Amino acid sequence: MRSLGYAILGFFFLATYPDLHAQDTINKVQIDPVLHGSLVLQFNGKTIYLDPYGGAELYQNFPKPDMVLITDIHGDHLHQETLDGIATEQGLLIAPQAVYDKLEGNQFREIMIMNNGEDTVIDDIGIEAIPMYNLPETEDSRHPKGRGNGYILTLGDQRIYISGDTEDTPEMRALRNIDIAFVCMNMPYTMTVEQAADAVNEFKPAVVYPYHYRGRPDMSDTEKFKSLVEANNEVTEVRLRNWYPE
Ligand code: ZN
Repeated sequence: MRSLGYAILGFFFLATYPDLHAQDTINKVQIDPVLHGSLVLQFNGKTIYLDPYGGAELYQNFPKPDMVLITDIHGDHLHQETLDGIATEQGLLIAPQAVYDKLEGNQFREIMIMNNGEDTVIDDIGIEAIPMYNLPETEDSRHPKGRGNGYILTLGDQRIYISGDTEDTPEMRALRNIDIAFVCMNMPYTMTVEQAADAVNEFKPAVVYPYHYRGRPDMSDTEKFKSLVEANNEVTEVRLRNWYPE
C-alpha cells in the first residue's frame, strides 16, 4: 500500500511539475537553469541572478537576489519587465555601461558598471568582465566588441564562466582554470555547435552547460555539441539540461 501511495504521489508530482528541470550542485555551488540565457547561482548564502528574463514568476521560488548580473542590451538579457517584477531593492546590479544607459529606473540597492577587462571582488565573490562579440568584427555586428560582458565569477574555489552572446573569440579560447562554463550556441545570433565545441575543446572547462541555444528556425543540436566535445576532449563533462521549460 505504501509503495502505491508513493507511486501516486510521484505521479502527482510529475503531473504537476512536468518541466521541473534539473538543479545541480557542484562543489557547493547550486545551479538552476531558468530560461534561455538566464540562471540562478547560490553559494554560501548568496543568491546571484544572471540575465533575468521571461517573467518574474520564473524567479518566485528563489531567494531574493543579492546580486544581478546582466550581459548585454538585448531583450533576452536586459528584460525590464522581469527586472521590475523581482524584489531587487536589496541587490547589487552589475552591468556594462550600455546596459546601464538603457535601464529604466533604479530599483537596486546599488549599481556597479563593469566593462570588458575589469574585475572586482564583492563579499568574497570575484567578478571579471570578459569580452563577448561576433566575428568578424564589423560595425553592424549584432554584438560589437566592447558593449556586452561575459563574466567569470569566483565562488569559493570554483571559477564559473558565463559566456553571454558571443562567438568563439580568442579571449574565450584563452580562458584557463574554468570549473563550470555556460556557453551559448544559437544561429544566427551567436555561433554554431561546431564553433562552440572547438572553443570548449581549447579552454577545457571541467563542466560545460550549453545554454542560450534557441535559434531561428531551430534549436541548436546540443547532442551534437556533446559528441564533438566527448570525441576530442577527455577533460570536459558536458551537461545537457532543459533551458526551455514550457
Ligand atoms: Zn541573447
